[in-house]
Amino acid sequence: LDPTNDNFSSEELDVEKKLRPLTFDDFTGQDQVLENLQIFVQAANGRDEALDHTLFHGPPGLGKTTLAHILANELDVGIKVTSGPVLDKPGDLAGLLTNLEERDVLFIDEIHRLSPIVEEYLYSAMEDYKIDIMIETGPNARTVQINLNPFTLVGATTRSGLLTSPMRARFGISSRLQYYNTELLTTIVQRSSSILNVPITMEAAIEIAGRSRGTPRIANALLRRVRDFAQIKGNGSIDIKIAKFALEALNVDAHGLDEMDNKILETIIDKFKGGPVGITTLATAVSESSETIEEVYEPFLIQQGFIMRTPRGREVTEQAYKHLGKIKDGTQGG
Ligand code: ADP
Repeated sequence: LDPTNDNFSSEELDVEKKLRPLTFDDFTGQDQVLENLQIFVQAANGRDEALDHTLFHGPPGLGKTTLAHILANELDVGIKVTSGPVLDKPGDLAGLLTNLEERDVLFIDEIHRLSPIVEEYLYSAMEDYKIDIMIETGPNARTVQINLNPFTLVGATTRSGLLTSPMRARFGISSRLQYYNTELLTTIVQRSSSILNVPITMEAAIEIAGRSRGTPRIANALLRRVRDFAQIKGNGSIDIKIAKFALEALNVDAHGLDEMDNKILETIIDKFKGGPVGITTLATAVSESSETIEEVYEPFLIQQGFIMRTPRGREVTEQAYKHLGKIKDGTQGG
């Protein structure tokens, strides 16, 4: 249940696809982002133009890929999907770009991981819908400029801080996705249960939602595991008893914190007397990059009131001590 881990088995990928909302109406939460997107899409549709290039940023599993597909759907156009690390050479990108039909969406996940040379190649495509391609080799080699169909680039990144500023400047629309509260996640769990045909009580849905780290992908993953318990240990439907039993057996933290979240809190308490500690020092102590801490872990820990950001660094709160069963001088509590 590592939120940064996208390596799903193919069966799980199929289920993910099945659970993916397809329209604006079907999408829960992110109201402000959605309201704006609906207006931009409607306007682009009215003018019969391509939607402006759109950037989604925010922690993994909050719906960036889902929104890219929804945009294509609502624009009534095709979508081609790729990702930063996959696009090795400008030639790979040229192949994709020249195959886009008018107003199509090109979705590039992990866009902060494009190689500089591919990124530069993308600039003129985004700006003027033109690219240079090399034809022939040896002494006859020359570049020709070709026109592309107007298209929409949708980029997704968990690390907006790593995006170059020329890249960022080329997105007309930029939206940050937020963590979901328990109420929204409950709705998502209920929706997913009904798609998966598993009866679930309100209480059980709330229990799963509350332990999902504010993240729909985790909520869906937990639901699938709880479903397995319900099938084998119960009568197939999910009530609060089976939900609690399963979450206990899965070792899911009461707040949905994952291993790294807990490691960060524990490290600040045990090694830095609760803080304040600078981000670089903390990163070294937990063997994670400071960018990942800042963009994946810390926002949730701050939102949930476990960490505070002070001018001198990060400090844990009372709540963090309580959560880990520690008392303030760093010894084990009861
Ligand atoms: P990201 O691209 O941000 O990592 P995804 O778009 O792949 O996240 O979403 C992960 C999963 O969570 C998807 O399979 C989708 O079913 C579910 N999901 C995300 N956002 C929502 C939402 N707002 N409502 C319902 N399901 C959602």
